Amino acid sequence: MRFRYFPRSEEANGWAAILPERLPSAPLQGGVQGDWVVVGAGYAGLAFAHALAEHQPQARIVLLEAGVVGDNAAGRNSGFAIDLPHNIGSGTAELAKASHYRQLLKGGLAQLAHWVSRYRIDCDWQQSGKYHCAVKAGSAGLLKQYARELDLLDEGYEYLEGTALSARLGTGFYHSAIYTPNTVLLNPAALVRGLADKLPDNVTLYERSPALRVDNTGGVRITTPHGEVVAGKAMFAINGGAGQLTPFAGKLASLATHATLTEPLTPEQRSRLGDIAPWGLTPVNAIVGATFRYTRDHRILIRQHVAHAPTLHSDVGAREAIVRRHRQLFLSRFPELGELAFAHSWSGLISVSRNGAPLWGQFGADLYAALGCNGAGISKQTMAGKALADLVCGVESPWGEQMRALGTANYLPPRPLLDLGVQGYLWKERLLGAGEY
Ligand SMILES: Cc1cc2nc3c(=O)[nH]c(=O)nc-3n(C[C@H](O)[C@H](O)[C@H](O)COP(=O)(O)OP(=O)(O)OC[C@H]3O[C@@H](n4cnc5c(N)ncnc54)[C@H](O)[C@@H]3O)c2cc1C
Repeated sequence: MRFRYFPRSEEANGWAAILPERLPSAPLQGGVQGDWVVVGAGYAGLAFAHALAEHQPQARIVLLEAGVVGDNAAGRNSGFAIDLPHNIGSGTAELAKASHYRQLLKGGLAQLAHWVSRYRIDCDWQQSGKYHCAVKAGSAGLLKQYARELDLLDEGYEYLEGTALSARLGTGFYHSAIYTPNTVLLNPAALVRGLADKLPDNVTLYERSPALRVDNTGGVRITTPHGEVVAGKAMFAINGGAGQLTPFAGKLASLATHATLTEPLTPEQRSRLGDIAPWGLTPVNAIVGATFRYTRDHRILIRQHVAHAPTLHSDVGAREAIVRRHRQLFLSRFPELGELAFAHSWSGLISVSRNGAPLWGQFGADLYAALGCNGAGISKQTMAGKALADLVCGVESPWGEQMRALGTANYLPPRPLLDLGVQGYLWKERLLGAGEY
């Protein structure tokens, strides 16, 4: 099995750019052997490697990363480590699934909190909660529905509108919001770097070492540009890139989404917003809507625009138009900050399955995987990796059952039908979410 495509992005990731420099680990040169080879150092791969190494301190674990940790999707996201699904659904089956998903998110968040505290990872970890926001009065019904579903899950929340909401956010742009208190906001590049730099001694990380070829006819042999790993078993944590490998083909689509981070507000600019604490907000429609954050170092983050990225590369030609769009979105919320410059704009990858279910577990004699983040992976993919390590080590934990309860990703057609299907889905969401920009 060979890879043709690797995650690529020309733009520097803003979260990494505002951190001190980090020296990546050396690429793999020559041959190495291990009990396990883990491919992909995002949340799933790092959580798997940490938990496996904790369960089996004598196991030799090789971790291959195509790029540089912190500059990958795991470091390029909006930094919401969520504890609750963004959408729940009110049918009995949807509620049951949301309940499993919630357990996994909370478990993933608790696991991250444990590692952040144990390894003293400085990633701006703050339990700020999150505002799920509607722009139009007409969408407040969606929020009320969400509130009823939170009631059914017995989750606490606040419904806010008008001046009660604008006083919290420093903008009167939004009609209403549901505030839930337990989401953690953080710098994702700092978190993922911290997890990688504190790997136990029996894990060796090789960065800039993409897996090019996989041979699993008896054990596993993985070729990289300058080396080769021979291992007993392999775990794939490469999100949408895995769609190129036979066991996962026709199950995952890769999408790119885009983010911008402003320069920090000066004290005078801050005074124009009023006395507000750092916050994060998610839109009722994740495809058309915009995610915003006001960070602890007084920057504003904007995340908006989703496009198909079948070759794991976002459309750089569209970049200028997207940055212009981010500027419009920013000005519509903060017209009084018109002079505030954008410091960084970048893109990153997510992967989705047709039914929103993951690809998780064993997929061949010696192949395992935790794939299909479906757009939200800080807490979820952390748990997917940890749960898989528990499973392969025979450690009793509730997480395997909760992961299986999410179901299995179902079939997606090959390209060009896939391209048409994804475009159709994005257009439908754009129509449904009209006015929620
Ligand atoms: C702009 C943006 C905003 C987002 N906001 C949020 C948010 O606020 N909260 C949230 O929970 N999620 C968010 N997400 C999604 C989140 O980033 C992903 O769900 C998460 O990173 C998935 O984790 P993962 O470990 O499964 O995969 P990834 O983080 O994608 O990690 C996969 C790793 O595999 C590597 N890889 C790929 N191919 C190979 C190969 N052939 N060989 C070796 N390595 C390879 C990649 O370089 C990458 O490091 C956002 C994503 C983006 C792009």
